Amino acid sequence: MSKEKIPYKIYLEESEMPKSWYNLRADMKNKPAPLLNPATKQPMTAHELSAVFCDELVKQELDDSTRLFDIPQEISDFYKMYRPSPLVRAYCLEEKLKTPAKIYYKFEGNNTSGSHKLNSAIAQAYYAKKQGLKGVTTETGAGQWGTALSMACSYFGLDCKVFMVKCSYEQKPFRREVMRVYGASVTPSPSTETAIGRKILAEHPGTTGSLGCAISEAVEVAVSSEGYRYVLGSVLNQVLLHQSVIGLETKAALDKYGEKADIIIGCAGGGSNLGGLIAPFMGEKLRGEADYRVIAVEPASCPSLTRGVYAYDFCDTGMVCPLAKMYTLGSGFIPSANHAGGLRYHGMSSTLSQLYDDGLMEARSVEQTKVFEAAEQFARVEGILPAPESSHAIKVAIDEALKCKETGEEKTIVFGLTGTGYFDLVAYEKFHNGEMNDYIPTDEELAVYREKLPKIG
Ligand SMILES: *Cc1c(COP(=O)(O)O)cnc(C)c1O
Repeated sequence: MSKEKIPYKIYLEESEMPKSWYNLRADMKNKPAPLLNPATKQPMTAHELSAVFCDELVKQELDDSTRLFDIPQEISDFYKMYRPSPLVRAYCLEEKLKTPAKIYYKFEGNNTSGSHKLNSAIAQAYYAKKQGLKGVTTETGAGQWGTALSMACSYFGLDCKVFMVKCSYEQKPFRREVMRVYGASVTPSPSTETAIGRKILAEHPGTTGSLGCAISEAVEVAVSSEGYRYVLGSVLNQVLLHQSVIGLETKAALDKYGEKADIIIGCAGGGSNLGGLIAPFMGEKLRGEADYRVIAVEPASCPSLTRGVYAYDFCDTGMVCPLAKMYTLGSGFIPSANHAGGLRYHGMSSTLSQLYDDGLMEARSVEQTKVFEAAEQFARVEGILPAPESSHAIKVAIDEALKCKETGEEKTIVFGLTGTGYFDLVAYEKFHNGEMNDYIPTDEELAVYREKLPKIG
């Protein structure tokens, strides 16, 4: 059996680690649609974007032709502290499922932030520092992004202001404290510190906030404070670019053992881990060099790819951010209380949206309790306590492995295990107590927000 040949964990040597990020857009025939200025409805210029984002990141955001971007030495040095992340052959899960499929997962939870978000946080903090800025602002929902950014900012000596969705701020005090360990200031959103926060509080007293609202606050503070810019942990092209390190490492590790993926699976919130994981594989597919099945997995409670529309929409509730063309449920859509906080975004990366629209990838939505069943099945054989977000990918990987069992096909399945679930134990508790619900929005509910989409062209 191949058991002797392929180790449980495939690591790369430092010398085998990626030296550049790969920009998938360079190989796309149909490029993702440009961001539009909400006032003029014209494509955002570098000049306009640089009021909000760091200059170097604006360049990365707008560049859809340069294939490789060198990873600066300072960033690769930081990566070396926690990368390469292991590519694990899930022998124990395979055995448990009695499937002929080979299952691999790329585990991104081996750092204090507990997720892949540090890969982009360190890059964004680096460019902010290089530009001579004082600090950055951002929002965080479940807290993974805020934690990753706090770590990155403290490393480079930058100030970090995090607007944390109020219900998470109250429910996840431990995440908040981790951010403060790294010196970040954490404000529950909506807050009275911003004009938009005060407006939202006046209109909706007692609201527990949303990601879209926290984004509006963070952007307001960035553009009105000297020496500050706003940074975002997902959705944007620049974030997918940084996250390509996940896919490049995965591909290098598989190549080392002559393995070829058939199916690549990832959970999709804003699309950054999936976009990063699939980047080099999708590049081969676009260039006609190889074929892969790619599956995006989203919660049934927030089904932007499977039930949204492909249209220009606002990225935030306050409607201050640029318009992005994406699969969206409408910026006013607030998903039901789902425990995979990182997947509760109304839209999807414009790059992934275009690939999906072109039929180059599939999407599937799964219900919450099924996700936690899969999470537990995985934890019991593979040992790792997975994040609820990551468990969406586990669920579909298991489904695909069971299909292989029926057909007898020996497919190679690769999925992204984006993080750990230590801060999600309240969700696990609800699951164990039978208190978790599987709310799925009705067509009528979705139609309400669809009708409010901005009319472009
Ligand atoms: C944020 C997050 C996600 C979802 O974000 P993407 O940008 O879609 O990758 C998934 N898993 C974990 C652990 C996260 O923290």
